Order: sequence, then structure tokens, then C-alpha cells
Amino acid sequence: MSSFLHRLFGLDGRIALVTGSSGGIGRALATGLAQAGATVVVNGRTLSTVEAVVAEIRQAGGTAHGAVFDVTSSSAVKDGIARIEQDVGPLDILINNAGIQRRTPLEDYPEETWHELMTANLDSVFFVGQAVARAMIPRKRGRIINICSVQSELGRPSIAPYTASKGAVKMLTKGMAIDWGKYGIRVNGLGPGYFRTELNKALVEDEKFSSWLAGRTPLGRWGETEELVGAAVFLSSDASTFVNGHILYVDGGITASI
Ligand code: NAP
Repeated sequence: MSSFLHRLFGLDGRIALVTGSSGGIGRALATGLAQAGATVVVNGRTLSTVEAVVAEIRQAGGTAHGAVFDVTSSSAVKDGIARIEQDVGPLDILINNAGIQRRTPLEDYPEETWHELMTANLDSVFFVGQAVARAMIPRKRGRIINICSVQSELGRPSIAPYTASKGAVKMLTKGMAIDWGKYGIRVNGLGPGYFRTELNKALVEDEKFSSWLAGRTPLGRWGETEELVGAAVFLSSDASTFVNGHILYVDGGITASI
């Protein structure tokens, strides 16, 4: 990398937490931030998968640590963030990525599943975002990226609660950007289109859905998780020092077309 590009996009010396990075999109983002030079903290609820991603990143020459906690528990989040700040160092970057999908037609949607989904997708962004921002505020510096979705803008049958949660994450992103901008903390959203991960297993295995998706997406295909890394590095780095409260969709053009 030329020194100009390195100054803009390099993350050397920065410490980044990516929630839900023991698999799927989070794993790709944690790996990408490490390749850009950041020390990465890998999170998930399962020790073995967290350790596997930490080992993968280290094997590739990166620096990574594991932090096992459940982002739906505010007390676990507070303890987890305090431990990272003490053992790894001050967080410069947070990617709020952990999230779940539960598909059921709205008229049959169980109340407990609604609460499970809202807690995982929305409450977690508030819990982790607030805990990390409280540490960043005295330092007057930080970058937070909330993983939104094309469903922050568009609905689909049987996922109304997911759409509501991701629409709320979009607006929470704007609220965080407004309240914390004066402390030098930039908050942006990254909105993936359709990517092949565990969360989308049922859709990936459904040939009818895949051919519908290819027709509906101007680039004509599923996304690969590595294709989200460039946008995450951009929003984490000094290449985006005046970008705040923005939602960047990485979706093959799906939100541009009807
Ligand atoms: P995924 O493959 O199911 O991976 C989710 C990750 O989050 C796993 O590592 C999981 O590990 C962790 N996790 C889940 N609940 C957690 C909790 N309560 N606390 C801590 N970690 C937790 O999902 P994905 O497809 O990568 O999705 C990641 C994010 O992108 C989600 O916010 C999703 O809504 C969003 N998104 C995905 C797509 C897509 O096409 N895949 C599109 C738009 C947006 P454990 O279960 O072991 O904890």
C-alpha cells in the first residue's frame, strides 16, 4: 500500500471489537480489520467458535483476542467491555454485528420470539453501543458501525419483526451519531444485502429464492461476506473522518431497484 493509502485506510494500532464475529459476516469483518492492521476482539456466545476464529486470524499473521459474552445481557455486556478495556486496551472501533433471524408470518409470530429477536437485534446495539461509548467519550475519539440490512428499508413476507428491528437500528445509528458526534465519536451503519451465511441457510438452500434474488439484484447474485470488508475498513478508518450518521448499503444495487 502506498503511504497515502496506508494513512487513509490503515488501522495499525487500533483496537476493534466485532460482536458476533465467531461466524458469518462478523468473522469476515474481524478478519478484514485484522488484515488492515487492527488488533481485533472476536465475540460470540460459544468459546470453541470464538477460539477458532482467533486462531485463524493469528495464523494469518493478525492480532486477535477472544471475548465470550452474550450481547443480549446488559450486565454481561458491561463486564465484557470492562474486561476488554483492561486486558486488551482502549477500544477505538466497535462493530455491532451480532443478530438473528426468525421467519414466521406475522399473524402467527409468537410473542416470545418477537422479544427474543428485538433483544438480539436492537437492545444489543444499545447495550454494547452505550457501554463502549461511555469508555470512548473521555478519550474524545471512536468509531461505531452498526450492521443494518436492506431490511432497514424494504420488507419481505414473514420477516416483519426483523424488518422492524433493522429499521430501528438504522434510526438508533442516526441518534448515536447526533448525541456522540460532539465527543469525536462517528457512528455509521453498514447495510448488507443478501449474503450466504448460517442466518440465511434456509434461503441459500431454496433454489427458487436464489433465482428470484438473482433476478431482483442488479448485480445478479448473492454477495460474498468478504465483499463487506472494504466498506467496514472505510468506515473504521481515517478515510471517512467526516462521514457520520450515514447508512452504507452493500447490496449489489437491490435497494436502488423496484
Ligand atoms: P450468522 O451467520 O448467524 O452469525 C451470527 C453470529 O453472531 C455468530 O457468530 C453467533 O455466534 C453470534 N451471535 C448470535 N447471537 C449472539 C449473542 N446474543 N451474543 C453474542 N454473539 C451472538 O449471522 P450473519 O448472517 O453473519 O449476520 C450477522 C449480522 O448481519 C446480523 O446482524 C444480521 O442481521 C446482519 N445481516 C445479515 C445479512 C445476510 O445476508 N447474512 C444481511 C443483512 C444483514 P453464537 O451463536 O455462537 O453466539
